[in-house]
Amino acid sequence: MGRYTEARCRLCRREGEKLFLKGPRCSTPKCAIAKKPAMPGQHVQTRQKLSNYGVQLRQKQKVKRMYGVLEKQFRRYFKVASRSKGVTGKVLLQLLERRLDNVIFRLGVAVSRSQARQIVRHNFVIVNDKRVNIPSFLVDVNDTVQLKAKDKAKNKLKENLELSKDRSVPTWLEFAPAELKARIVRLPQKEDIAATIQEQLIVELYSK
Ligand code: SF4
Repeated sequence: MGRYTEARCRLCRREGEKLFLKGPRCSTPKCAIAKKPAMPGQHVQTRQKLSNYGVQLRQKQKVKRMYGVLEKQFRRYFKVASRSKGVTGKVLLQLLERRLDNVIFRLGVAVSRSQARQIVRHNFVIVNDKRVNIPSFLVDVNDTVQLKAKDKAKNKLKENLELSKDRSVPTWLEFAPAELKARIVRLPQKEDIAATIQEQLIVELYSK
């Protein structure tokens, strides 16, 4: 399965904003955006004014990078969203939020989405009483998501919860931290996502 291998801070610097790809480090002065906000590259000094296309492209790249999804899969999400009855941009965000790795991240059991992906791949996640190790698995309303791990790994998950305590669990998820168990109460909405995303720009880009 494809994944981003480029240095994560570089991705944030390219987009000119924090994408929170590295967990607790992102909220410290060690964050590369705080230390060196300029675009990566030896000769790049300033950000040029972007064309409409450039603005749309950057918005798409930002969202893809935030969720750690590659182009092919992102386009697939867009296709599904555009064929749905709902508003394309909103359904697109909903699909990204419903990914199992994102749910694990939102619960605070992982400090970043890439760590959440590892947790899923390592077979620690049970959805509706069945082990699921596919990070792109889409959860649905009333699904239950539980983390089951042996002592050492379980302690690590609890440590992550402590490190993520400043991030509140969104209201579409009902979470019992003591049991490491959650239920999907409703589908996520754009308002549940704290990051500023202009999904309409992505729709315009792909509709050309
Ligand atoms: Fe992005 Fe986090 Fe790196 Fe800061 S520390 S640049 S937010 S990945």
